[in-house]
Amino acid sequence: MKNLKDKTLFREAGLIGGRWVTAGSGKTVDVLDPATQSAIGTVPDMAGTETRAAIEAAASAYGDWRKKTNAERAALLEAWHGLMLAHLDDLALILTTEQGKPLDEAKGEIRYGASFVKWFAEEARRINGHTIPSPTSDRRIIVLKEPVGVCGIITPWNFPNAMITRKVAPALAAGCTVVIKPSEFTPYSALALGVLAERAGIPAGVINIVTGMPAEIGNEIMANETVRKISFTGSTRVGSLLMRGAADSVKRLSLELGGNAPFIVFDDADLDLAIEGALVSKFRNGGQTCVCANRILVQARVYETFAAKLTARVNAMTVGPGTQPGVAIGPMINMAAVEKINRHVEDALAKGAEIITQKPALPEGLQYVAPLVLTGATNEMQLADEETFGPVAPLFRFETEEEAIALANGTPYGLASYFYTENLKRAWRVGEALEFGMVGLNTGSVSMEVAPFGGVKQSGLGREGAQAGIEEYLEMKSFHMGGL
Ligand code: NAD
Repeated sequence: MKNLKDKTLFREAGLIGGRWVTAGSGKTVDVLDPATQSAIGTVPDMAGTETRAAIEAAASAYGDWRKKTNAERAALLEAWHGLMLAHLDDLALILTTEQGKPLDEAKGEIRYGASFVKWFAEEARRINGHTIPSPTSDRRIIVLKEPVGVCGIITPWNFPNAMITRKVAPALAAGCTVVIKPSEFTPYSALALGVLAERAGIPAGVINIVTGMPAEIGNEIMANETVRKISFTGSTRVGSLLMRGAADSVKRLSLELGGNAPFIVFDDADLDLAIEGALVSKFRNGGQTCVCANRILVQARVYETFAAKLTARVNAMTVGPGTQPGVAIGPMINMAAVEKINRHVEDALAKGAEIITQKPALPEGLQYVAPLVLTGATNEMQLADEETFGPVAPLFRFETEEEAIALANGTPYGLASYFYTENLKRAWRVGEALEFGMVGLNTGSVSMEVAPFGGVKQSGLGREGAQAGIEEYLEMKSFHMGGL
């Protein structure tokens, strides 16, 4: 990869037990730059054999890793965090090249990803058990917190750095070892993190990375009894497949799945604040985020004003390669993503929606999509039911608070939600009525390392970040001492 200051961060091999390895079959998978659709390079197309080897490596590293003091593990995580920040520019360039997002956003993701490493380095020092008063005087009872064991970590392409650190940092802090399977679309960010983890002194086998197409790797992670937990971020379809596959060996699961976030603008809202929030929530990463506003619900009295203000801002957006300065919307990840976005827009237009934004100049390249504001969106349209995962802002009109809440909750998903109001009573009523794991009041962002991140309903199980994030990698052991 050109322009990297430290070229050793670009690896085209998997990491198993401290060795950088190819697939036994010799097969590779091409990784494409979404801006040009040309190959950046290849990674090994690993399968069951390599995944088993990675799980065995994680199992043999586990004994020593869990025996380290929490302070020793914390120090290694701190070193990893320091290296991520020291190599921020290179990590961001790798990320933008394989994923497409604008370079400034990629830098933001590296800082966000690193914040989890720092946070869980600190949390490692606070894995406290507790004592329980015994019902009989001859007994003492304490509760120990112990690592779950070897964890399978499966991550998506839309945040190729942060979705890994959000899982691996708490796992390592807790004393677990991991096998990471990054998305086949964005493996290089994961591999660069592996290089830096080695450099930080994290021992061989604690972090293993298997690359390639998902089915065989996933089957081994699901079936292998040594893997005690799977932490997955990705689609609800694959999440429920993993849940079924993990059932036979009764593994613990954390699932961060798809969303269908409502973004509600009441007529007593600060409209300028709501516009800023909508831009962040809807158009960051080209609309390819799980917490992205999928349905923008606007109260009738301010509908036209909000639509006009949003349109003015969207018309000013530049579409282009993420490495080009000033670009707001990079290429979409692949052609399937482009086709889904186009299908949603065509369906909405056929059912009466209208595009009110101008068509911007699109650069050469098949994976660019124009950012759009659509008025006249209704529940009959596909974009009301499914994540569009693109820069399309459909505006739904509502009259009453009750109608807005019913519309917002009328989805099997429950990840993020947002609403704007200046009315304090309404703020409490609506905040409590929304059936989502995360609610943003007068803000379009809900992701930070200090707060629990996760969904309800079909958006998943468990929480990442915050103090809760490390509990996902810990078991409680009741330790009874009798005969006193
Ligand atoms: P995806 O489900 O297609 O893939 C996610 C990961 O699962 C990838 O690594 C993929 O290779 C792997 N995978 C696919 N099939 C598998 C199988 N049979 N066995 C094991 N692994 C398999 O999702 P994606 O397209 O990469 O990501 C987009 C989705 O992720 C969206 O639905 C988005 O909402 C969701 N997402 C959720 C969160 C969250 O925190 N809730 C965050 C980011 C993305």
